[in-house]
Amino acid sequence: MIKMERSERLKRLPPYLFVEIDKAKKKARDAGRDIIDLGVGDPDIPTPNFIIDALHKAAKDPSTHRYALDQGLPEFRNAAVKWLKRRFGVDMDAETEVHPLIGSKEGIAHIPLAFINPGDAVLVPDPCYPPYRSGTIFAGGEVVPMPLRAEHNFLPDLKAVNHHLLHKVRMLFINYPNNPTAATCDKKFLKDVVEFARKHNIIVCCDAAYSEIAFDGFKPPSIFEVEGAKDVAVEFHSLSKTFNMTGWRMGFAAGNSQVIEGLAKVKANIDSGVFSAIQKAGIAALDNYEKHIGSVIRLYEERRNLFVDGLNSLGWNVPKPKATFYVWVKVPPRYTSVTFAAALLEKCDIVATPGNGFGDAGEGYVRMAITVDKKRLAEAVDRIKKRLV
Ligand SMILES: *Cc1c(COP(=O)(O)O)cnc(C)c1O
Repeated sequence: MIKMERSERLKRLPPYLFVEIDKAKKKARDAGRDIIDLGVGDPDIPTPNFIIDALHKAAKDPSTHRYALDQGLPEFRNAAVKWLKRRFGVDMDAETEVHPLIGSKEGIAHIPLAFINPGDAVLVPDPCYPPYRSGTIFAGGEVVPMPLRAEHNFLPDLKAVNHHLLHKVRMLFINYPNNPTAATCDKKFLKDVVEFARKHNIIVCCDAAYSEIAFDGFKPPSIFEVEGAKDVAVEFHSLSKTFNMTGWRMGFAAGNSQVIEGLAKVKANIDSGVFSAIQKAGIAALDNYEKHIGSVIRLYEERRNLFVDGLNSLGWNVPKPKATFYVWVKVPPRYTSVTFAAALLEKCDIVATPGNGFGDAGEGYVRMAITVDKKRLAEAVDRIKKRLV
């Protein structure tokens, strides 16, 4: 066996904090315990039939069997542009301002490779979706965390960014509706971000994975509703959560044409596009968005109401999230994120994700995903009531 030392970039990745909880979960399952898994952010409902039918039809067409064009099907880019216009009232050019992705995670993880050199810094929310951090590290960049705190509505405080670092900052990630905190932002915040980015010459990467999972009539804004956003920003859209398509790997980037071009160049050297039949299924999804989305929102809204009301009936004080399928729960006194997640598993057979796994500022919280049915959510509340509090 030769010596296989891992690259410096792999060694620089933060430790994977979910190891212990993953092990404990597996042990509990193997022991035959009835686990309620609120740990993973993956919809439990199947992809709608009309999308599966579109895939089936497209997969029978041999023209979809060859390499997809790097830029993707023009029809897919057109469908994305039309959807952005209908949903947010924004205009994009299908030729230069939209690019399909093998799931939005792929684009998010790759974009630093196009613009970040060793020594450059990237502003990353803390807590956050892990690829912002790992993508930056793979590109040799320095991660500068922006803490998200309850007293600031889980929005980064741009005024608090270290001024001595600003000259090195080339990119900034934001994600609203937010994973893991379930926080939302308004247009005023997006306007501040655009202004900050224009002033300091920073590319803004907006992760819009949960833009469609929002409640009580709230419609999360796109950054492109803000004037001047196209000078600095790119937005990552995903079909995964909106259409229950996590396994399909279909998303797209939209925004500043130079940013899109840079990302496309990285991708042209790494992958060969999204299977054309899946792009065609994606067209069917986007074209029928309005008919589909109501039932998704109603489902999570009902679950959210039942679960959060249930937790609060135990004397907890959990705010009702306006969006996403996460509930961000402050741990009770004398617990840490990890000890509380461990107690939930040991005493209640419930899996929750420790907040510090998303970054240091997530300490003191656990994330619970309402991606199980109402009966199981009620059962989870009941177990916590009987066995924990
Ligand atoms: C689920 C998720 C994504 C991405 O999903 P894809 O399946 O790769 O499109 C992106 N960002 C956040 C915050 C997510 O939770």
